[in-house]
Amino acid sequence: MTLQLRVYVPEHPLIKHWLAVARDVNTPSILFRSAMAELGRWLAYEAIRNWLPTIETTIQTPLTQCSGTFVNPEVPLGIVPIMRAGLALLEQVQQVMPLAAVYHLGLVRNESSLEPSCYLNKLPDSFAEETRIVILEPMLATGGSIMMAMKEVTSRGVKPELVRIISIVAAPPALRQLSENYPGLEVYTAMIDEGLNSKGYIVPGLGDAGDRAFGT
Ligand code: URA
Repeated sequence: MTLQLRVYVPEHPLIKHWLAVARDVNTPSILFRSAMAELGRWLAYEAIRNWLPTIETTIQTPLTQCSGTFVNPEVPLGIVPIMRAGLALLEQVQQVMPLAAVYHLGLVRNESSLEPSCYLNKLPDSFAEETRIVILEPMLATGGSIMMAMKEVTSRGVKPELVRIISIVAAPPALRQLSENYPGLEVYTAMIDEGLNSKGYIVPGLGDAGDRAFGT
């Protein structure tokens, strides 16, 4: 069987609504943050479907015994927010995955070369074999940052097929690179946009997600 990158764009009116709010240039920073947080929650909910490990057990209700399914607390889960913009999704994703550890990764893009460099890496030296990781990268543009994040995560022992990426807007160059290098990976995004402008911004996109979230 040949593995392929799978990109999910969940059809949901609330995802469409919050994406439109986030895209609107007139949306103030405080509302932009709400829109990103809402999108983070809905996309996380979709991303962990059939991925969050569970255990089956028997439970006693006030009336009788029945089977019950719980999230398995023994399988390690991690969230890797790529700073800055990934922080805008973090709180709501944590609400959906409260047992997950958070490993911050600070990447900054050189505005001329568009190449990322890493200024903060809180990943451990290695991960347990079965660790599942969700990477928060709101803007999948040139692919530089997400490829760097994937390398940092997988070189520490995480299997690519156990990684889920949550983005808000994805563009073809980043998806192409992920597809070529990580078949079997799953991406959850609110929209796939047309492409990039000469400065590496997604078009139509939503501008600089970090600046808009943090009012800079
Ligand atoms: N980063 C952003 O914040 N926006 C883009 O459009 C591309 C990269």
